Amino acid sequence: MFWADKVAKELAKSGKPQLVDDAKTPSGRVHVGALRGVVIHDLIYKALKETGATVKYTFIIDDMDPMDDLPTYLSKDKYKKYMGVPLKDIPSPQGGDSYAKHYAKEFIHVFNKLGAKPEILWNSELYSSGKLDKQIKLALDNAEKIQEIYEKISGSKRPRDFIPFQPICEQCGKIGTTVATSWNGEYVNYECLENKVDWAKGCGYKGKISPFIGKGKLSWRVEWPAKWAALGVTIEGEGKDHASRGGSRDTANAIAKEIFGYEPPYDIPYEHFLLSGRKMSSSKGIGVSAREISEILPAEVLRFLMVRPWPMQHIDFNPELEHTIPKLFDDFDIARKTKDPDLKRIWNLSSVERKTEDYFVLRFGDLVNLVQMPNMDLESESESRKGAALTKKDKEELKERVIYAKIYLEAFAPENIKFTVNKTLPDKVRMLTDKQKALLLKVIDLMQKGSDPEAFQNEVYQAGRNIGLSSAETFKAIYIALLGKESGPKAAWLILSLDKKFVKERFKEAGK
Ligand SMILES: [Zn+2]
Repeated sequence: MFWADKVAKELAKSGKPQLVDDAKTPSGRVHVGALRGVVIHDLIYKALKETGATVKYTFIIDDMDPMDDLPTYLSKDKYKKYMGVPLKDIPSPQGGDSYAKHYAKEFIHVFNKLGAKPEILWNSELYSSGKLDKQIKLALDNAEKIQEIYEKISGSKRPRDFIPFQPICEQCGKIGTTVATSWNGEYVNYECLENKVDWAKGCGYKGKISPFIGKGKLSWRVEWPAKWAALGVTIEGEGKDHASRGGSRDTANAIAKEIFGYEPPYDIPYEHFLLSGRKMSSSKGIGVSAREISEILPAEVLRFLMVRPWPMQHIDFNPELEHTIPKLFDDFDIARKTKDPDLKRIWNLSSVERKTEDYFVLRFGDLVNLVQMPNMDLESESESRKGAALTKKDKEELKERVIYAKIYLEAFAPENIKFTVNKTLPDKVRMLTDKQKALLLKVIDLMQKGSDPEAFQNEVYQAGRNIGLSSAETFKAIYIALLGKESGPKAAWLILSLDKKFVKERFKEAGK
């Protein structure tokens, strides 16, 4: 049984309403790895829904977090002064919205496209609406106990007066630089320290503030369980870094139980999603954003990539390796047509808009070759391979695949699978042996006959054999004469896709 179905079945037994939750800090363009968490939570949500359980999926945008790193694609002059300021209070690079809204919306757009449509909650609104007030008070009243929990679980020592709350400085507006020094049940006294962190400078202001309705935030390790308790979260996982023993998940679980009296949500730790490759990792200094990868693969195929592995299985995706993308499409098509119930379930959960699996489409690798051939009628080629007329759905799929085959060729395909037909006689024809030249002249004769590529391919091969050429030597002669390189797509298809007169003249010239 698919892992999410197992989890859902187990959780649904309680008969209680379920709340799946995930969150992300919009500190800039969101990295592709963050999509994995969104999809994993979406799988549990959908599996639970199918059991008939009452279930909701929320996604919190952590817009109260400070800017603690300046993305390389932003102007230093414009943004350096905002280091330490809550992301919700920083202007967007495009004007209008806040910085947090700008990058969060970009990320939301991508995961919506992948079929994940959680209810979006803005952390700043959770605070300003007073939704977290009860937990803020509990945390402040129990600051000492929280400190003990930290020490017990993570082994880290905190200063004696540690209070798990960070006010927004009333003078400079920063939140990353403040320290709460005392709590009297009504107000928090705080200081904005010049050197609290090395990425932002505080202004030195000392003040007192009510910690409620949006004047600051709980420290992250306390905020996480506070949100569980305030919203009633029953399922939330995290990347494996947070899931290590004594890590933030363990602390959050203990704080949930001991401070907020709340049973921690069901946990799903998950492995990283790594995107490797030279072009990908050098992209603008941040690696690849979720938006970028959503532009190189259709939504279902990208979702399939994340749905197929189990959460603790590592994904290392390198689109620049020769077979990565064509194989991903092949695997997707195999899952689409399979009778294996587990694989079928993976395909169903990858399918974004409950598409029918009943359509014909050429293999991606074949399409990559075919789109490079001049004058190729892809619809009639598909039709002859299908052996029947194309349906409307077949045509739509073909159209979409062609778009992604072209993107692949432009962005990632290794040189050996790219080709163009040389307009003039390639220099490389000097490499041709007399036998190869004889073959090219023979192919001109063979072209007079029918135009079935399968039969034609075989005739060319036989002609080579009769002359005393190996199969490799035979087809190499054709590639050199047409493409100026030693390899290429299936020769018969290539020849038949070209203008007959052009090929005949080229072979005559090369065969001299
Ligand atoms: Zn300040």
